[in-house]
Amino acid sequence: MTFSVHGLAVSRGVAIGRAVLVASSRADVDHYFIDAEKINEEIARVRTSRNAMMEEIVRLQHDLPKDAPHEIAALLDVHLMLLQDEMLIGGVKHWITERHYNAEWALTTQYEIIARQFDEMEDPYLRERKADLEQVVERILRHMKGLASPLQHGAGRAGSRRKQPQQDLLLDDTLDVPLVLVAHDISPADMLQFKQSLFAGFATDVGGKTSHTAIVARSMDIPAVVGARSASQLIKQDDWVIIDGDAGVLIVDPSPIILAEYGFRQRQGELERQRLNRLRNTPALTLDGQRIELLANIEMPEDTLGAVEAGAVGVGLFRSEFLFMGRNGKLPDENEQYQAYLKAIEGMQGLPVTIRTVDIGSDKPLDRPSGKADGRLNPALGLRAIRWSLADPPMFLTQLRAILRAAAHGQINLLVPMLAHAGEIRQTLDLIDQARAQLDAHGAAYGPVRLGAMIEIPAAALTVPMFLKYFDFLSIGTNDLTQYTLAIDRSDESVAHLYNPCHPAVLRLIADTIAECNAQKKGVSVCGEMAGDVSMTRLLLGLGLRSFSMHPSQILAVKQQILRADTAKLKVWAQEVLQSEDPGELL
Ligand code: PEP
Ligand code: MG
Repeated sequence: MTFSVHGLAVSRGVAIGRAVLVASSRADVDHYFIDAEKINEEIARVRTSRNAMMEEIVRLQHDLPKDAPHEIAALLDVHLMLLQDEMLIGGVKHWITERHYNAEWALTTQYEIIARQFDEMEDPYLRERKADLEQVVERILRHMKGLASPLQHGAGRAGSRRKQPQQDLLLDDTLDVPLVLVAHDISPADMLQFKQSLFAGFATDVGGKTSHTAIVARSMDIPAVVGARSASQLIKQDDWVIIDGDAGVLIVDPSPIILAEYGFRQRQGELERQRLNRLRNTPALTLDGQRIELLANIEMPEDTLGAVEAGAVGVGLFRSEFLFMGRNGKLPDENEQYQAYLKAIEGMQGLPVTIRTVDIGSDKPLDRPSGKADGRLNPALGLRAIRWSLADPPMFLTQLRAILRAAAHGQINLLVPMLAHAGEIRQTLDLIDQARAQLDAHGAAYGPVRLGAMIEIPAAALTVPMFLKYFDFLSIGTNDLTQYTLAIDRSDESVAHLYNPCHPAVLRLIADTIAECNAQKKGVSVCGEMAGDVSMTRLLLGLGLRSFSMHPSQILAVKQQILRADTAKLKVWAQEVLQSEDPGELL
């Protein structure tokens, strides 16, 4: 039966595919397709690990002292029984044989199916056996990790799947159906892992429009819906799902008529993309001849490829924290960072690259387990971004040295996130001087950088002249500026209806920041999601903005707005919008 689940639209377009349910804690398990001839080998990998686990338990049972608590013996019995359960191993075999999932993926998929059955059990004793199943699966996974697969992550048929033309989709059970990922939550780091993968769309129960998970989904330019509350409970493994990334709706088990309608919309979207592609080499000039700078936001150095393809004239925001996340706390050393920044410089082929110093904290934890619940009540107001960096000078100096060294090879702007206090500014500048002195002491080559600060806290937006005393340029982080002005957690779907970048107070702070920079002839750009939102382009132009930084996939659509705009006319209109109680209604 067809039903729909509503959430927040975060990445445009339509995806149609079978649901792959991934538990948040399992998002780090490899997901790739194997070649047909590897099926038996892959099944054998699971069997070998399963058998090893069974042998271990039998050995433990044998060695159990006579006076051991009987609960231990009972637990071992349960684990042995679960390991022998045909439903587990038979299901794993099914996913490997029928879908060509790699062993780990097949195992976690089958785990999700059985776990849900446990959840539905009346008997509390049986319900609790889910925890045992989880432990058993965890042990098999760990054992398999020791026996590394000869296959590479992302190898096999993954690429071909992603390019599957969905309009030709039939509701049959062929191998080549697209897949959509459904999860309660996906951390930004795990999302990044999926970046190279095979999913045609994403849906999560939690998250807001500008949560970092949503931002990474948007950067992948595939349809996504977040904040769909109980989607991962309502949708079952392998259900057919339409992800409508424009409306923020998931349609489960669609009827043929609905499917045909969405197939049509997919084709329309594709045509629109092809049309926009023709603007790639068109200069970003308004009707009245104003040149607008269109820059790219990137998470990893490889993203520069898409930036250049989209015609970006530089990187306006390299979120360097993605180099730091999901590494079990092991931070990248100076050389690893230097190589990554160098790669970004090379990728941009002589165009400038703005590297933002690390912005860890809040919804971008270093590692998965801490997540939002990092023990603090208000992580967004806590030790995040520059505060985190200043709390650990050796770590920060390492990053600064790497950036300065990379600057010897290209044009680099160094951008500092979340500053608010004069003391923080001075401390930061002092550390940059120290990093230079350390490089001098070692005779290491480094280059000049332009220094920029992000305006993302109202306190910063209200003290722009102070910032301009110290910095060459400013970049307005509208995602956080909205969050902190309105006291709305940007990643909390329960208050998403109040998260409004068009609130008059937010617009006032943006307008005044742009005006002050323009008056002092200092560079200013917007690098929050607002910059890539075509409904905001005219207003930002009217407020005097001439530099926009966004995901490469949004550049051409924004350019289209620019080509149709007359900034002289928009300037007058923008002042009217600023005076409105509900500016969003005038856009
Ligand atoms: C912002 O806050 O607008 C911004 C660009 O930074 P981030 O989204 O990474 O917090
Ligand atoms: Mg920010």
